[in-house]
Amino acid sequence: MLTAHAYAATSATEPLAPMTIQRRELGAHDVLIEIKYAGICHSDIHTVRGDWGPASYPLVPGHEIAGVVTEIGPQVTKHAVGDRVGVGCMVNSCRECASCRRGEEQYCLKGMTGTYGAVDRDGTITQGGYSSHVVVAEDFVVTIPDALELDVAAPLLCAGITTYSPLNHWGAAPGKKVAVVGLGGLGHMAVKIAAAMGAEVTVLSQSLKKQEDGLRLGAEHYYATSDPTTFEQLAGTFDLILNTVSAQIDLNAYLSLLAVDGAMVNVGAPAEPLSLQVFSLIPGRKTFAGSMIGGIRETQEMLDFCAEHGIGAEIEVIPAEKINDAYERVLASDVRYRFVIDTATLS
Ligand code: NAP
Ligand code: ZN
Repeated sequence: MLTAHAYAATSATEPLAPMTIQRRELGAHDVLIEIKYAGICHSDIHTVRGDWGPASYPLVPGHEIAGVVTEIGPQVTKHAVGDRVGVGCMVNSCRECASCRRGEEQYCLKGMTGTYGAVDRDGTITQGGYSSHVVVAEDFVVTIPDALELDVAAPLLCAGITTYSPLNHWGAAPGKKVAVVGLGGLGHMAVKIAAAMGAEVTVLSQSLKKQEDGLRLGAEHYYATSDPTTFEQLAGTFDLILNTVSAQIDLNAYLSLLAVDGAMVNVGAPAEPLSLQVFSLIPGRKTFAGSMIGGIRETQEMLDFCAEHGIGAEIEVIPAEKINDAYERVLASDVRYRFVIDTATLS
């Protein structure tokens, strides 16, 4: 067993605090990763605070992991000591079902194993990336291209793939009008990636405070959703709306912005239900859908795409002692655009 330094939540209400945890012995197909950076995703906060149901504590969050391989199990073939690697939201799956065989392990029919707070196939509870080291099966470890620095690459492992996958699936491309709702961690990656795919991107944010940033990141248009005329002006406009908002929104108002045959895809996962009027979909043959992260193969494809297009996350690197402050700032929509923990500050 290896002792790792970490930051953990001990309940839904206490601040996160330093802790040491044990990582398992390297199995034949495992790699040991020295974590360099870990992004803070809003999902970490939802999970810690029990928004999605009770969590198991102590809980070390973190599923945007970038680091370097320091040891490999005897049968590892995909990674070598010294490789720059990433781990995202899952660390295992059944590997046999139709979804796994298709390379969509996130939709494993027996349930993928989350990077933290999940029961792994060996019965242990997984612990995430706010930590100095992690042991992960090689099949769930991706390669970070040399063109990407590890700190700006870390958020790609969740925010990047969670937006890349639906943009890809629903065909963001030249000639397509894509709206991104919410300019936070996911939203800012969606803007960069959709623009790199050639789509015409519009940001729909609560206010115009971040307009300059949104345009710099690749959006052509930027509107405040607090202004009711926005919904009149943009009615029937978009082929695809990607909703990244972490809270309840007026779904029907946003569906009115879709063109005929348009799709609105929810990646935002608020604790509260959203209310859907079917007549928001029926006239216009519109689709309302969800999407969860992306498979391992697609995650590697996304990293390669980002490297090719010079896309990293816009980040604020923080020491571990600032994690609790960062949580409050994320909850206040005061993030530009991802907090990334320098894990050297954990010990
Ligand atoms: P984030 O950085 O906090 O960004 C969310 C953004 O939503 C905020 O920056 C804000 O943008 C907007 N927003 C927040 N509260 C709002 C409100 N009350 N009304 C309207 N807009 C509001 O969060 P994130 O890390 O990007 O995550 C976003 C959501 O995606 C979370 O629910 C997270 O759990 C979920 N998620 C899902 C997946 C998946 O696989 N589906 C993966 C990762 C995360 P503006 O200031 O621009 O309005
Ligand atoms: Zn996430």
